[in-house]
Amino acid sequence: MIITFYGVRGSIASPGFATARYGGNTSCVFIELDNGQILIMDAGTGIRELGKRLLNTDDTINILLSHGHWDHIQGYPFFQPIYQPDRQIRVYTSSSGNHGQLCALFSQIDGANFPVKESELPSKSECIMQNVEDVLAADNIHVRRAHLNHPGGGIAYRIEEDGASCAYITDNELLPPDNPATTYGEWVDFCQGADLLIHDAQYLESDMPHKHGWGHSLVAQVRQLAVDAGVGCLAMFHHDPDRTDTEIDFIQKENDSFFRGKRAPARSLCAAEQMRIRLTPQQHGSTLIEVD
Ligand SMILES: [Zn+2]
Ligand SMILES: [Zn+2]
Repeated sequence: MIITFYGVRGSIASPGFATARYGGNTSCVFIELDNGQILIMDAGTGIRELGKRLLNTDDTINILLSHGHWDHIQGYPFFQPIYQPDRQIRVYTSSSGNHGQLCALFSQIDGANFPVKESELPSKSECIMQNVEDVLAADNIHVRRAHLNHPGGGIAYRIEEDGASCAYITDNELLPPDNPATTYGEWVDFCQGADLLIHDAQYLESDMPHKHGWGHSLVAQVRQLAVDAGVGCLAMFHHDPDRTDTEIDFIQKENDSFFRGKRAPARSLCAAEQMRIRLTPQQHGSTLIEVD
């Protein structure tokens, strides 16, 4: 499978000179499976650029939403495939949250918050909230899910194909102050041996204790998860909107020294827009991980 980042920023889009290299668009990750199916993880502002790329294809578009916060939905009204007649778009969400939140992609296109109404769109879109794993499996897309530790809730996904695996976990506080929806030990199990772990790493120690309970993880906690779960590659994601490129470079340097000499992950990086990771299963059971 091939994973391409179109938006790596958390909370709010943050364009500007200080964020230009890693990018200022909010959460959106494109996954191309080897069987031809395509998945879009979240519809933050990064989905706008991805939409242009998909205009000349006719694949069914599968959008897997982590939750309905603005930074994960705001790009959708500007996603050009929704204006293509009969374009098939399926949105997958949680079955445990409330309906308004889950269909947030559609409900924001209401003629008041956006000039067009969802009912006027020529594409054929549907929101799937029940039996998500089964519906996806019928299309040969194999996904496991877990509940995020995040205000209002949300869903993490682990996608598997022919021995390659990618876990997408954003807006998740690994060690929240209250009872977690998913414990740290359960996260270690969920991520165990994943070839690629994409995880929220929005905060530094300097953000604490003020932001404890806001539903995001510390960089140091995510490093430890990557070691404990023995992942192949760690991609830190959902960068704070105030984190400059220079500061993210420094996190990368600290990652390199922290992981030196450890068995896993073999590679770590701070996600940037247009970064592409290819996971290729090998005959002896391992996975080749290539980044460009
Ligand atoms: Zn977010
Ligand atoms: Zn959120």
